[in-house]
Amino acid sequence: MYIDAHAHYDDDRFADDQAQVLSRLLQNDISLVINSGANLESSRQSIQLAKTYPFIYACCGIHPHEAESYIEDLPLIEEMLSHEKCVAIGEIGLDYHYENTRRDIQIEAFRAHMDLAVKHQLPVVIHNRESTQDCLEVVNDYRKDGVKGLFHCFSGSPEVAKIVLDADYHISIGGTVTFKNAKKVVETVKYVPLDRLLTETDSPYLSPEPNRGKRNNSSNIPYIVKKIAEIKNVPVEKVVKAVEQNTKELFKKIK
Ligand SMILES: [Zn+2]
Repeated sequence: MYIDAHAHYDDDRFADDQAQVLSRLLQNDISLVINSGANLESSRQSIQLAKTYPFIYACCGIHPHEAESYIEDLPLIEEMLSHEKCVAIGEIGLDYHYENTRRDIQIEAFRAHMDLAVKHQLPVVIHNRESTQDCLEVVNDYRKDGVKGLFHCFSGSPEVAKIVLDADYHISIGGTVTFKNAKKVVETVKYVPLDRLLTETDSPYLSPEPNRGKRNNSSNIPYIVKKIAEIKNVPVEKVVKAVEQNTKELFKKIK
């Protein structure tokens, strides 16, 4: 059974057929999905989805794009963390590509979430775009407090992967690994040990080949797993088993 460690089924692009899409997942051997919040409302919806579907879990947090209002929103996010199916704080981090929010505010918001991770003993799910150095600085500052987590949709080099692994984080691989120009991610998948890899779609974004450009959904996970198995030259079943183990090891609230 396959696992999608990061998806956004609360996204508008699923507004018309969310229930149909989700009802097909189990038939397609997708056994577990973590729906990721990106702001107050989508965190609420992630919890709601987790309550409705036994195979869905939630993570709650404020994306760097939305960090402007974190001071008002974070106390409400904190209330969600104790929900039995809220398995992590996320997605959080830094995004210097779009820079929708001032960098200093992004960093403040990121650190405020990390403080909650310490307080509630929860892992974090990190979004990092063109902000690797600052991101790793925050991650390393919280190492002494034992904060662990996931770098979602990892696109960095093996060198960056090494720093992430040394900080005790896991790395999650999405559809980009199947793209024809995916040289760097392929090198990284080769480098990262199988016991530190997770799989995700980031639906509705980043559909893997052969569905690139279409709306993504968790049923595309097997394409990603197949590609990882090819790169690592191991049977698909071995990747499936490792991902299941790694996901449960990292997100301890998953039953
Ligand atoms: Zn995401």
